[in-house]
Amino acid sequence: MSANTTSAEDKLIARYFAPLATHPGALGLSDDAAFIKPPPGCDLVLKADAIVGGIHFFNDDPAGTIAAKALRINLSDLAAKGATPLGFLLSLALPKDIGEPWLAAFTQGLREDAATYKCPLFGGDTVRSPGPVMVSVAMVGHVPDGMMVRRAGAKAGDRVFVTGTIGDSALGLGLRNGAAWPLDEAQRAHLADRYLLPRPRNALAEAVLHYASAAMDVSDGLAGDLAKLCRVSDVAAAIDAARVPLSDAAKAVLAADPAALETALTGGDDYEILCTVAPAKVDRFRVAAMAAKVAVTDIGTIAAGEGAQFRDAQGELLSFARAAFSHF
Ligand SMILES: [Mg+2]
Repeated sequence: MSANTTSAEDKLIARYFAPLATHPGALGLSDDAAFIKPPPGCDLVLKADAIVGGIHFFNDDPAGTIAAKALRINLSDLAAKGATPLGFLLSLALPKDIGEPWLAAFTQGLREDAATYKCPLFGGDTVRSPGPVMVSVAMVGHVPDGMMVRRAGAKAGDRVFVTGTIGDSALGLGLRNGAAWPLDEAQRAHLADRYLLPRPRNALAEAVLHYASAAMDVSDGLAGDLAKLCRVSDVAAAIDAARVPLSDAAKAVLAADPAALETALTGGDDYEILCTVAPAKVDRFRVAAMAAKVAVTDIGTIAAGEGAQFRDAQGELLSFARAAFSHF
């Protein structure tokens, strides 16, 4: 995948990574670099996101889901920008004792998602890690010239939409960390699965491209991410917390532990799309989302001013101790 290859590394690349390099410009990972030509009339959209064992995943998570998570969190950003994936670069830092079965499972997970999301491997590097596994993905996508959907662009009067459901992953992490919520097996499995495997909404990318005035993916918590979008758009948001879409499992958690609402709204790792849509485009956005088979929910409105406010069903302002997940 780069210069300084040993023959052991060449074998590793040929066996595990070359099968993922299906784009002709990747040259089967036999060269120092890959080349791509953007589709005519398109801008390239670039994104890099890394995950580290013990921080973004558990070291004993299945290797295939670690690979899928690394890819999907980047796919999610592309989806929120209205972009179509072209491919990705992978940098992998592995402990000495990781072993081939782990690598085989990892690349199998990567291969499945690369095929599903039509996002082949262009190249990368593998290095030794003195600590946990680190997976860094740099992804390239494309949008029509000048049309990347930005965080800036929300206007007073726009509706605020989110895809899917919010909070499942953060509550799933809570379960992993020992929270004792009274859930049935299916509910536990749902939350645990949503922590392990994000569901990036790339099927909605085209609708976002055509109808959203601003968009981002929800990775650091709905409340904090919406506040970021409002800040760069120079607007305020008024959100009806009761309309934030929740899974049955999340509802069961909140019924037993109402304080977990804060975890759901600020916990992060949702990888849903948060976007704003002008009133005149809302109907077409909904139709396009239905055609894409992605659930979208109107949770509130954009107004002049600043800050993202969440109110409960009684109209009381919710305040959060911690608006968003921060790594630092
Ligand atoms: Mg993001």
